[in-house]
Amino acid sequence: MNAPAKLSLRDDFPGLVTTEGQPWHYLDTAATAQKPRAVIEAVARALGEDYATVHRGVYARSAEMTLAYEAARRRVAQFIGGREEELVFTRGATEAINLVAYSYPKKGRVLLSVLEHHSNIVPWQLAGWQVDVCPLTPDGRIDLDAAASMLTPEHEMVAFAHVSNVLGSRLDVARAAELAHAVGAKLLIDGCQAVPRLPVDVVKLGCDFYAFSAHKLYGPTGIGALWGRTELLEAMPPWQGGGSMIDRVTFERTTYAPPPQRFEAGTPAITEAIGFAAAVEYVEAIGIDRIHRHEVELVASLRRELGAMNDVTQFGPDDSAGIVSFALDGVHPHDLGTILDEADVAIRAGHHCAQPLMDHLGVPATARASFGLYSDESDIAALLEGIARTRRIFGSISG
Ligand code: PMP
Repeated sequence: MNAPAKLSLRDDFPGLVTTEGQPWHYLDTAATAQKPRAVIEAVARALGEDYATVHRGVYARSAEMTLAYEAARRRVAQFIGGREEELVFTRGATEAINLVAYSYPKKGRVLLSVLEHHSNIVPWQLAGWQVDVCPLTPDGRIDLDAAASMLTPEHEMVAFAHVSNVLGSRLDVARAAELAHAVGAKLLIDGCQAVPRLPVDVVKLGCDFYAFSAHKLYGPTGIGALWGRTELLEAMPPWQGGGSMIDRVTFERTTYAPPPQRFEAGTPAITEAIGFAAAVEYVEAIGIDRIHRHEVELVASLRRELGAMNDVTQFGPDDSAGIVSFALDGVHPHDLGTILDEADVAIRAGHHCAQPLMDHLGVPATARASFGLYSDESDIAALLEGIARTRRIFGSISG
C-alpha cells in the first residue's frame, strides 16, 4: 500500500518562519529549496568537529573526511541510479552543463528546446556548438515528434530539461534518448527540477549525461553533480587544471587522473558534499514517490482554484510537476510578487532565466508558484488571498 501523499514537515525547516515568527508561505522552491535541520546539522558537524581536507592528509581526521566525501558521492550517485565512478561533483547544474559543452570532444550541432533555462543554452553557444531549437507542443511540452524530424547524423548532442522550470512540463526522457541515439547523438538531461520531485533512474531513462544541483534538492548551494556514462567521461579531456585532477605532473608533460577526479580540480566543496548526501538521505527517508504525489495534489488544487478565475491565465500543461506559472490580467508579475510579499507569500516573478520561452509565450515575465515537500494547503490559501488583495488594490487604482 502506498503511504498517504499528504506530508506535514514544515517543522523540519527553520527557514519557513518570518522574523516575527509567523509562517512564511514559501512558494519559490523551484529557485532554491529551504533546508531541513538534518542538512544544516550535517554541514555544521562537517565544518566543526569533523573538519579536515580530503584526499591528501596523512592523519586520521583527513582519512575519515575522505571516506565521508567519497561516501557522499556514492549516495548521490545511487539516488539517481548511477555508480560513484560516474558522478562528478560540480558547483551546480550550470557548471555540469558547461563541463560537457566545453569538454565533449566532438563539438558539432546540439539540439536544444524553446523551454530551456539559460544555463542549458549559453554554455553551448560559448563553447562553439551550432544550436538548433526544438519547438514545443501547444500545451508546453518539448515536441518530440518535431525533434524526430529535426535530428540528423550531424547532431552530436541533444540537451533537454527533464522538467521545465517555468511550465513544469515533463519530458519523456526514454523517447528522447531513442531519438538521439537513432542518429548517433548523445542525450544530456538538465535534471534540476526533476530530481527534487520525480523518481529518477538514469539507467532506465537511457540518457548519457544528467545534470542537477543540490540546493534545489534541500541541500547546500555551491555543489551539484554531473552523471555521465563512464566511456563518455573517459573520452573527455579535463577542462580545468590544478591539484587533485592529475596523475603525474612534470614541466614537459602532465597526465591526468581518471574520471571523476579528472574533472574536480582543486580542493573540492567538502562540507557541501556532506550536506548534499544528508539531503539525499532526508529525501529518501520520506520517499521521492510520496513527495511527488504530495506535489501532484498541490498542483491540482492550485490549478483548480486559478482555473475558476477568469482574469488568470495559466501556462504549461495541467499535469505540471510542482510548478504553476500564471498571469493576472492587468497586473505585472513583479507588482503581484511585491504585494504577496507584504502578506508573507514568496513567489517568483520574472523571466525565470528562460527569455526565449518568454518570447515564445509573448510575455515579458510570468508569476510562478512552485512547491516543495514542506508546502501545504495553507500556502495555497495565502497565495489566493494575496491574489484577491492584489485585484482589490489594482481595481481601486484603475476604477
Ligand atoms: N536548469 C533549470 C531547469 C533550472 O531550474 C536551473 C536553476 N533555476 C538551472 C538549470 C541552473 O541551476 P544552478 O543555478 O543551480 O546551476
